[in-house]
Amino acid sequence: MKKIAFFDAKPYDKIYFDKMSEDYNFELKYIESKLNEHSAVMADGCDGVIAFVNDSADEKTIHRLHSMGINVLAMRSAGYNNVDFKSAFGKIHVLRVPAYSPFAVAEHAAALLLTLNRKIHRSYNRTREHNFSLSGLIGFDLHGKTVGVVGTGKIGSVFINICRGFGMKIIAYDTFPTPGSGIEYVPLDELFSRSDIISLHCPLTKDTWHLIDKRALSLMKDGVYIINTSRGALIDANSLIDAIKEHKIGAVGLDVYEEETEIFFEDFSDEVLEDDTLARLLTMPNVIVTGHQAFLTGEALNNIARTTLDNLKAYFDGAELTNEICYRCMKFGTCKQAHHERCF
Ligand code: NAD
Repeated sequence: MKKIAFFDAKPYDKIYFDKMSEDYNFELKYIESKLNEHSAVMADGCDGVIAFVNDSADEKTIHRLHSMGINVLAMRSAGYNNVDFKSAFGKIHVLRVPAYSPFAVAEHAAALLLTLNRKIHRSYNRTREHNFSLSGLIGFDLHGKTVGVVGTGKIGSVFINICRGFGMKIIAYDTFPTPGSGIEYVPLDELFSRSDIISLHCPLTKDTWHLIDKRALSLMKDGVYIINTSRGALIDANSLIDAIKEHKIGAVGLDVYEEETEIFFEDFSDEVLEDDTLARLLTMPNVIVTGHQAFLTGEALNNIARTTLDNLKAYFDGAELTNEICYRCMKFGTCKQAHHERCF
Protein backbone atom coordinates (compact mmCIF):
# COMPACT_ATOMS: atom_id res chain seq x y z
CA MET A 1 0.00 0.00 0.00
CA LYS A 2 1.34 3.43 -0.98
CA LYS A 3 1.26 6.16 1.63
CA ILE A 4 0.38 9.65 0.38
CA ALA A 5 0.84 12.90 2.32
CA PHE A 6 -2.24 15.08 1.72
CA PHE A 7 -1.39 18.73 2.52
CA ASP A 8 -3.81 21.56 3.35
CA ALA A 9 -6.54 18.98 4.05
CA LYS A 10 -10.03 20.36 4.67
CA PRO A 11 -13.11 18.46 5.91
CA TYR A 12 -14.74 18.61 2.47
CA ASP A 13 -11.61 17.09 0.85
CA LYS A 14 -11.76 14.13 3.24
CA ILE A 15 -15.41 13.42 2.38
CA TYR A 16 -14.66 13.03 -1.33
CA PHE A 17 -11.22 11.38 -1.10
CA ASP A 18 -12.22 8.91 1.64
CA LYS A 19 -15.28 7.89 -0.40
CA MET A 20 -13.00 6.87 -3.27
CA SER A 21 -9.73 5.81 -1.68
CA GLU A 22 -10.96 2.23 -1.12
CA ASP A 23 -10.92 1.85 -4.95
CA TYR A 24 -7.16 2.44 -4.78
CA ASN A 25 -4.37 0.91 -2.74
CA PHE A 26 -3.50 4.17 -0.98
CA GLU A 27 -3.29 5.25 2.63
CA LEU A 28 -3.92 9.01 2.79
CA LYS A 29 -2.16 10.91 5.56
CA TYR A 30 -4.21 14.09 6.00
CA ILE A 31 -2.11 17.09 7.07
CA GLU A 32 -3.81 20.38 7.91
CA SER A 33 -0.70 22.51 7.27
CA LYS A 34 0.03 23.92 3.89
CA LEU A 35 2.98 22.42 2.07
CA ASN A 36 6.15 24.52 2.25
CA GLU A 37 9.85 24.03 2.94
CA HIS A 38 9.18 23.67 6.70
CA SER A 39 6.12 21.40 6.62
CA ALA A 40 7.52 19.15 3.87
CA VAL A 41 9.13 16.99 6.57
CA MET A 42 5.65 15.76 7.51
CA ALA A 43 5.69 13.74 4.30
CA ASP A 44 8.63 11.71 5.55
CA GLY A 45 7.91 8.02 5.04
CA CYS A 46 5.33 8.73 2.34
CA ASP A 47 5.56 7.67 -1.31
CA GLY A 48 3.87 10.71 -2.80
CA VAL A 49 2.33 14.09 -2.03
CA ILE A 50 -1.04 15.68 -2.80
CA ALA A 51 -1.13 19.49 -2.68
CA PHE A 52 -3.49 22.37 -3.46
CA VAL A 53 -3.45 25.91 -4.85
CA ASN A 54 -1.98 27.74 -1.86
CA ASP A 55 0.62 25.12 -1.03
CA SER A 56 4.14 26.05 -2.04
CA ALA A 57 6.25 23.67 -4.08
CA ASP A 58 9.18 26.07 -4.41
CA GLU A 59 12.81 25.09 -4.91
CA LYS A 60 13.52 24.32 -1.24
CA THR A 61 10.31 22.33 -0.80
CA ILE A 62 10.99 20.29 -3.93
CA HIS A 63 14.52 19.64 -2.75
CA ARG A 64 13.31 18.51 0.69
CA LEU A 65 10.63 16.19 -0.71
CA HIS A 66 13.07 14.68 -3.18
CA SER A 67 15.67 14.13 -0.47
CA MET A 68 13.04 12.06 1.41
CA GLY A 69 12.65 9.83 -1.65
CA ILE A 70 9.42 11.39 -2.92
CA ASN A 71 9.21 11.50 -6.70
CA VAL A 72 5.61 12.43 -7.36
CA LEU A 73 3.54 15.52 -6.56
CA ALA A 74 -0.15 15.37 -7.45
CA MET A 75 -1.73 18.82 -7.55
CA ARG A 76 -5.46 18.56 -6.83
CA SER A 77 -5.99 21.72 -8.88
CA ALA A 78 -5.89 22.95 -12.45
CA GLY A 79 -3.61 25.92 -11.75
CA TYR A 80 0.06 25.28 -10.96
CA ASN A 81 1.67 28.70 -10.55
CA ASN A 82 2.84 27.63 -7.05
CA VAL A 83 5.16 24.91 -8.41
CA ASP A 84 8.80 25.55 -9.32
CA PHE A 85 8.86 23.34 -12.40
CA LYS A 86 12.54 23.93 -13.17
CA SER A 87 13.49 22.58 -9.76
CA ALA A 88 11.07 19.68 -10.09
CA PHE A 89 12.29 18.58 -13.53
CA GLY A 90 14.23 15.34 -13.36
CA LYS A 91 13.32 14.88 -9.69
CA ILE A 92 9.60 15.01 -9.07
CA HIS A 93 6.85 14.25 -11.55
CA VAL A 94 4.14 16.90 -11.25
CA LEU A 95 0.59 15.80 -12.04
CA ARG A 96 -2.55 17.93 -12.01
CA VAL A 97 -6.29 17.90 -12.62
CA PRO A 98 -6.58 19.82 -15.90
CA ALA A 99 -10.37 20.02 -15.78
CA TYR A 100 -12.82 19.12 -13.04
CA SER A 101 -15.72 21.42 -13.68
CA PRO A 102 -15.31 24.51 -15.81
CA PHE A 103 -19.02 25.04 -15.10
CA ALA A 104 -18.40 25.47 -11.37
CA VAL A 105 -15.95 28.34 -11.89
CA ALA A 106 -17.75 30.00 -14.81
CA GLU A 107 -21.09 29.88 -12.95
CA HIS A 108 -19.45 31.45 -9.89
CA ALA A 109 -18.08 34.26 -12.09
CA ALA A 110 -21.64 34.79 -13.37
CA ALA A 111 -22.96 34.72 -9.78
CA LEU A 112 -20.52 37.48 -8.78
CA LEU A 113 -21.55 39.56 -11.79
CA LEU A 114 -25.30 39.15 -11.15
CA THR A 115 -24.97 39.79 -7.42
CA LEU A 116 -22.95 42.96 -7.93
CA ASN A 117 -25.12 44.32 -10.72
CA ARG A 118 -28.48 43.70 -9.01
CA LYS A 119 -27.06 44.50 -5.53
CA ILE A 120 -28.31 41.21 -4.09
CA HIS A 121 -25.70 41.39 -1.29
CA ARG A 122 -27.13 44.72 -0.19
CA SER A 123 -30.82 43.80 -0.48
CA TYR A 124 -30.17 40.54 1.43
CA ASN A 125 -28.90 42.57 4.38
CA ARG A 126 -31.61 45.19 4.08
CA THR A 127 -34.64 42.90 4.02
CA ARG A 128 -33.34 40.97 7.04
CA GLU A 129 -33.54 44.34 8.87
CA HIS A 130 -37.08 44.81 7.48
CA ASN A 131 -35.76 47.59 5.26
CA PHE A 132 -37.52 47.30 1.91
CA SER A 133 -36.22 50.56 0.43
CA LEU A 134 -34.94 50.33 -3.16
CA SER A 135 -32.67 53.38 -2.98
CA GLY A 136 -29.19 52.67 -4.27
CA LEU A 137 -30.13 49.31 -5.76
CA ILE A 138 -30.38 50.28 -9.44
CA GLY A 139 -28.64 47.83 -11.76
CA PHE A 140 -28.43 47.62 -15.54
CA ASP A 141 -29.61 45.15 -18.17
CA LEU A 142 -26.86 42.72 -19.05
CA HIS A 143 -28.56 42.30 -22.42
CA GLY A 144 -26.64 44.24 -25.06
CA LYS A 145 -23.64 44.99 -22.81
CA THR A 146 -20.12 44.10 -23.96
CA VAL A 147 -18.21 41.57 -21.89
CA GLY A 148 -14.46 41.22 -22.42
CA VAL A 149 -13.16 37.75 -21.59
CA VAL A 150 -9.42 37.30 -21.05
CA GLY A 151 -8.58 33.62 -21.63
CA THR A 152 -10.98 31.53 -23.69
CA GLY A 153 -9.96 28.09 -22.48
CA LYS A 154 -12.27 25.67 -20.68
CA ILE A 155 -13.65 28.09 -18.08
CA GLY A 156 -13.60 31.20 -20.26
CA SER A 157 -15.56 29.48 -23.03
CA VAL A 158 -18.26 28.25 -20.58
CA PHE A 159 -18.48 31.80 -19.21
CA ILE A 160 -18.85 33.12 -22.78
CA ASN A 161 -21.77 30.74 -23.39
CA ILE A 162 -23.45 31.90 -20.18
CA CYS A 163 -23.04 35.53 -21.30
CA ARG A 164 -24.41 34.69 -24.74
CA GLY A 165 -27.51 33.40 -22.97
CA PHE A 166 -27.99 36.85 -21.46
CA GLY A 167 -27.75 38.44 -24.94
CA MET A 168 -24.41 40.10 -24.23
CA LYS A 169 -21.83 41.04 -26.87
CA ILE A 170 -18.62 39.06 -26.43
CA ILE A 171 -15.09 40.17 -27.16
CA ALA A 172 -12.04 38.24 -26.04
CA TYR A 173 -8.27 38.18 -25.79
CA ASP A 174 -6.21 35.00 -25.72
CA THR A 175 -2.62 34.32 -26.74
CA PHE A 176 -3.97 31.20 -28.47
CA PRO A 177 -7.39 32.11 -29.93
CA THR A 178 -9.73 29.16 -30.50
CA PRO A 179 -10.17 28.74 -34.27
CA GLY A 180 -13.78 28.50 -35.50
CA SER A 181 -15.22 29.58 -32.14
CA GLY A 182 -17.07 32.56 -33.59
CA ILE A 183 -15.55 34.69 -30.82
CA GLU A 184 -14.40 38.21 -31.75
CA TYR A 185 -10.76 38.32 -30.61
CA VAL A 186 -9.31 41.80 -30.08
CA PRO A 187 -5.98 43.13 -28.74
CA LEU A 188 -5.88 43.39 -24.95
CA ASP A 189 -5.93 47.21 -24.84
CA GLU A 190 -8.99 47.24 -27.12
CA LEU A 191 -10.70 44.75 -24.81
CA PHE A 192 -9.96 47.03 -21.86
CA SER A 193 -11.37 50.11 -23.62
CA ARG A 194 -14.50 48.51 -25.14
CA SER A 195 -15.76 46.29 -22.31
CA ASP A 196 -18.56 47.10 -19.89
CA ILE A 197 -17.59 43.99 -17.94
CA ILE A 198 -14.19 42.27 -17.87
CA SER A 199 -13.81 38.69 -16.66
CA LEU A 200 -10.41 37.05 -16.20
CA HIS A 201 -9.96 33.39 -17.12
CA CYS A 202 -6.27 33.13 -18.06
CA PRO A 203 -3.56 31.47 -15.93
CA LEU A 204 -1.12 33.42 -13.79
CA THR A 205 2.25 33.49 -15.53
CA LYS A 206 5.15 35.94 -15.79
CA ASP A 207 3.27 37.55 -18.71
CA THR A 208 -0.07 37.88 -16.93
CA TRP A 209 1.19 39.08 -13.51
CA HIS A 210 -0.59 42.42 -12.82
CA LEU A 211 -2.33 42.23 -16.20
CA ILE A 212 -4.73 44.74 -14.70
CA ASP A 213 -2.53 47.54 -13.39
CA LYS A 214 -2.76 51.33 -13.25
CA ARG A 215 -2.26 51.68 -17.00
CA ALA A 216 -4.84 49.02 -17.90
CA LEU A 217 -7.35 50.58 -15.49
CA SER A 218 -6.85 53.98 -17.12
CA LEU A 219 -7.89 52.53 -20.49
CA MET A 220 -11.18 51.13 -19.16
CA LYS A 221 -14.65 52.63 -19.46
CA ASP A 222 -15.93 54.55 -16.47
CA GLY A 223 -18.15 52.24 -14.43
CA VAL A 224 -16.52 49.04 -15.71
CA TYR A 225 -17.20 45.81 -13.79
CA ILE A 226 -14.21 43.52 -13.17
CA ILE A 227 -14.61 39.85 -12.23
CA ASN A 228 -11.61 37.72 -11.26
CA THR A 229 -12.08 34.02 -10.55
CA SER A 230 -8.67 33.10 -11.94
CA ARG A 231 -5.65 34.11 -9.83
CA GLY A 232 -5.27 37.11 -7.52
CA ALA A 233 -1.99 38.41 -8.89
CA LEU A 234 -3.57 39.07 -12.28
CA ILE A 235 -4.71 42.32 -10.64
CA ASP A 236 -2.60 44.93 -8.86
CA ALA A 237 -4.93 45.28 -5.85
CA ASN A 238 -3.60 48.68 -4.74
CA SER A 239 -4.14 50.24 -8.17
CA LEU A 240 -7.59 48.67 -8.16
CA ILE A 241 -8.43 50.32 -4.84
CA ASP A 242 -7.25 53.69 -6.17
CA ALA A 243 -9.47 53.29 -9.24
CA ILE A 244 -12.49 52.33 -7.10
CA LYS A 245 -11.92 55.38 -4.87
CA GLU A 246 -11.75 57.58 -8.00
CA HIS A 247 -15.17 56.15 -9.03
CA LYS A 248 -13.58 54.76 -12.18
CA ILE A 249 -14.82 51.26 -11.41
CA GLY A 250 -18.48 50.27 -11.18
CA ALA A 251 -17.97 47.06 -9.20
CA VAL A 252 -15.47 44.29 -8.56
CA GLY A 253 -16.05 40.59 -7.87
CA LEU A 254 -13.00 38.75 -6.58
CA ASP A 255 -12.83 35.05 -5.82
CA VAL A 256 -9.05 35.27 -5.64
CA TYR A 257 -6.66 37.78 -4.11
CA GLU A 258 -2.94 38.33 -4.62
CA GLU A 259 -2.04 37.76 -0.96
CA GLU A 260 -4.65 35.08 -0.27
CA THR A 261 -2.23 32.28 0.65
CA GLU A 262 -2.16 32.86 4.40
CA ILE A 263 -5.80 34.01 4.61
CA PHE A 264 -8.19 32.16 2.33
CA PHE A 265 -9.65 28.78 3.30
CA GLU A 266 -9.26 29.66 7.02
CA ASP A 267 -11.62 31.19 9.64
CA PHE A 268 -10.35 34.51 11.03
CA SER A 269 -13.76 35.72 12.22
CA ASP A 270 -12.47 36.21 15.79
CA GLU A 271 -9.40 38.14 14.71
CA VAL A 272 -8.39 41.53 13.33
CA LEU A 273 -7.53 41.19 9.67
CA GLU A 274 -3.89 42.14 9.27
CA ASP A 275 -3.97 42.62 5.50
CA ASP A 276 -4.90 46.30 5.06
CA THR A 277 -5.45 46.00 1.31
CA LEU A 278 -7.96 43.18 1.67
CA ALA A 279 -9.56 44.91 4.66
CA ARG A 280 -10.03 48.09 2.55
CA LEU A 281 -11.59 46.11 -0.31
CA LEU A 282 -14.01 44.51 2.14
CA THR A 283 -15.28 47.93 3.26
CA MET A 284 -16.46 48.85 -0.22
CA PRO A 285 -20.15 48.36 -1.07
CA ASN A 286 -19.38 47.66 -4.73
CA VAL A 287 -16.81 44.93 -4.00
CA ILE A 288 -17.58 41.30 -3.27
CA VAL A 289 -14.84 38.94 -2.15
CA THR A 290 -15.36 35.19 -1.95
CA GLY A 291 -12.60 33.01 -0.52
CA HIS A 292 -11.50 31.00 -3.58
CA GLN A 293 -14.73 29.04 -3.61
CA ALA A 294 -15.52 29.15 -7.34
CA PHE A 295 -14.50 25.50 -7.77
CA LEU A 296 -16.56 24.32 -4.81
CA THR A 297 -19.34 22.16 -6.21
CA GLY A 298 -19.97 18.50 -5.41
CA GLU A 299 -19.35 17.58 -9.04
CA ALA A 300 -15.98 19.36 -9.04
CA LEU A 301 -14.85 17.79 -5.74
CA ASN A 302 -15.82 14.36 -7.04
CA ASN A 303 -13.83 14.88 -10.24
CA ILE A 304 -10.84 16.33 -8.36
CA ALA A 305 -10.66 13.27 -6.09
CA ARG A 306 -11.08 10.78 -8.93
CA THR A 307 -8.49 12.39 -11.26
CA THR A 308 -5.93 12.99 -8.48
CA LEU A 309 -6.10 9.35 -7.37
CA ASP A 310 -6.08 8.10 -10.99
CA ASN A 311 -2.98 10.25 -11.64
CA LEU A 312 -1.16 8.70 -8.67
CA LYS A 313 -2.24 5.19 -9.62
CA ALA A 314 -0.90 5.70 -13.16
CA TYR A 315 2.39 6.93 -11.69
CA PHE A 316 2.84 3.96 -9.34
CA ASP A 317 1.69 1.49 -12.03
CA GLY A 318 4.35 2.82 -14.40
CA ALA A 319 1.63 3.82 -16.86
CA GLU A 320 1.45 6.87 -19.15
CA LEU A 321 0.99 10.13 -17.24
CA THR A 322 -1.55 12.01 -19.33
CA ASN A 323 -1.86 14.78 -16.73
CA GLU A 324 1.84 15.34 -16.16
CA ILE A 325 3.19 18.82 -16.74
CA CYS A 326 6.72 20.22 -16.78
CA TYR A 327 8.36 23.50 -17.74
CA ARG A 328 9.32 22.14 -21.14
CA CYS A 329 5.85 21.15 -22.24
CA MET A 330 4.51 24.43 -20.81
CA LYS A 331 7.10 26.65 -22.45
CA PHE A 332 7.89 24.89 -25.70
CA GLY A 333 4.77 22.76 -26.10
CA THR A 334 7.05 19.79 -26.62
CA CYS A 335 8.64 17.26 -24.35
CA LYS A 336 8.58 13.51 -24.05
CA GLN A 337 5.09 13.71 -22.56
CA ALA A 338 3.80 14.97 -25.91
CA HIS A 339 5.04 11.66 -27.33
CA HIS A 340 3.12 9.61 -24.75
CA GLU A 341 6.10 9.21 -22.45
CA ARG A 342 6.77 10.70 -19.06
CA CYS A 343 8.17 14.24 -19.04
CA PHE A 344 11.54 12.84 -17.93
P1 NAD B 1 -7.36 26.63 -19.67
O1 NAD B 1 -5.93 26.23 -19.76
O2 NAD B 1 -8.40 25.74 -20.27
O3 NAD B 1 -7.55 28.08 -20.33
C1 NAD B 1 -6.67 29.14 -20.09
C2 NAD B 1 -6.67 30.01 -21.33
O4 NAD B 1 -5.85 31.16 -21.07
C3 NAD B 1 -6.08 29.31 -22.57
O5 NAD B 1 -6.96 29.46 -23.66
C4 NAD B 1 -4.77 30.03 -22.78
O6 NAD B 1 -4.40 30.10 -24.16
C5 NAD B 1 -5.09 31.41 -22.22
N1 NAD B 1 -3.90 32.18 -21.92
C6 NAD B 1 -2.67 31.74 -21.55
N2 NAD B 1 -1.84 32.78 -21.39
C7 NAD B 1 -2.57 33.89 -21.67
C8 NAD B 1 -2.26 35.26 -21.70
N3 NAD B 1 -1.02 35.72 -21.44
N4 NAD B 1 -3.24 36.13 -22.03
C9 NAD B 1 -4.48 35.68 -22.33
N5 NAD B 1 -4.83 34.39 -22.34
C10 NAD B 1 -3.87 33.50 -22.01
O7 NAD B 1 -7.62 26.89 -18.14
P2 NAD B 1 -9.06 26.92 -17.40
O8 NAD B 1 -9.38 25.56 -16.91
O9 NAD B 1 -10.03 27.65 -18.24
O10 NAD B 1 -8.67 27.78 -16.09
C11 NAD B 1 -8.36 29.15 -16.20
C12 NAD B 1 -7.80 29.61 -14.87
O11 NAD B 1 -8.85 29.57 -13.89
C13 NAD B 1 -6.71 28.72 -14.26
O12 NAD B 1 -5.43 29.09 -14.75
C14 NAD B 1 -6.83 28.98 -12.78
O13 NAD B 1 -5.93 30.02 -12.45
C15 NAD B 1 -8.26 29.49 -12.61
N6 NAD B 1 -9.08 28.60 -11.77
C16 NAD B 1 -9.67 29.13 -10.67
C17 NAD B 1 -10.48 28.34 -9.85
C18 NAD B 1 -11.19 28.90 -8.66
O14 NAD B 1 -11.72 28.12 -7.84
N7 NAD B 1 -11.28 30.20 -8.49
C19 NAD B 1 -10.65 26.99 -10.18
C20 NAD B 1 -10.03 26.48 -11.32
C21 NAD B 1 -9.25 27.30 -12.12
